Amino acid sequence: MTDWVEVADRVLVWRQPVLDVNAVLVLGDAGALVVDTLSTPAQATELADAIRRVTPLPWRVVNTHHHFDHCYGNAVLAPDADTEVWAHTECLARYDRWIAEDGGKERVAAIAAEFDIPGLETVTLRGPDRAVPGEVTLDLGGRTVDLRHLGRGHTDNDLVVVVPDAAVVLAGDLLEDGAPPSFDDSWPLEWAGTVAALIELGPSTVVPGHGNPMTPDAVAAQHAELAALEWACRDGWRDHAPAEEVAAKAPFGSVLAVQRAYAFLDGAL
Ligand SMILES: [Zn+2]
Repeated sequence: MTDWVEVADRVLVWRQPVLDVNAVLVLGDAGALVVDTLSTPAQATELADAIRRVTPLPWRVVNTHHHFDHCYGNAVLAPDADTEVWAHTECLARYDRWIAEDGGKERVAAIAAEFDIPGLETVTLRGPDRAVPGEVTLDLGGRTVDLRHLGRGHTDNDLVVVVPDAAVVLAGDLLEDGAPPSFDDSWPLEWAGTVAALIELGPSTVVPGHGNPMTPDAVAAQHAELAALEWACRDGWRDHAPAEEVAAKAPFGSVLAVQRAYAFLDGAL
C-alpha cells in the first residue's frame, strides 16, 4: 500500500510501485504544488485522492519532463483550465504538437504498445499550459518554489523544482535511484554539467524521478559517473572507437548513450 512519506517540512513523496515513480506534493499556506502526475488515470486518481486526504488547498501541477510516466495523469489532476500545468517550453511544445495532430491518440497508442501498463491506452493527453523557458518562481503562500531548467540531460526539457526553505530539490529523471538512468532522449555530453548545477543549489535532500530520496553524497556519486561517461564518449569519438567498445567500459554500459554522444559530436543530433 502506497502512502505519503514526508521527506522535509511539508514536502511529501508518493511512490508509485509501477516503474517506481515519485510524485511529490509541496504544501504552502494558500496552495499546493503537485510535481509529476504518473502514467494512467487510475494511478492519477489514487494520487488525487491521497492529496485530498492531506490538504483541502487548491493545487498547481508541474511536469518535470515530457515522458509519459510523469505527465499522463495530467487530465485527472488538471481536468480544467483553472488548474495550471507548468513545464519547460519544449515539453509544452511537444504536447501541443501531439494534441494538434489527432488529439494525441497516435502518441498514446504508441506508448501503450511499448509499455505494458494496464490503462495506459485509455489516457487522454492533457499538455502543460504554462511555459518555463528558464526559471519561474511560484508563490504557494508563505513559501515559494522555483522551477528551473538547469540545462539538458535526461531530455532537452528537464525541470528541477527547488524548495529553498526546506533545502530540497526535486530532480525529475536527471537523477535516478535504484536503476540506471534512461538515455533514450538524453544529452550525455551535457548531463553531468546539468547535475553539477543542481549540486550548486546545495540541497540537503534530493528526490529523484524514480526510487528513494538521495543524499548529497549519492548525488555526487551519480554526477561522477555521468562525468566519466561524458569523457569516455569524448575520448572514444576522438579515437574513432566503436560505441559498443566505449559503452562496455563506461559507467551504465549504455550503447545508446554513446551513440547519442557521437551523433551530437558529428553534428547529427
Ligand atoms: Zn523520463
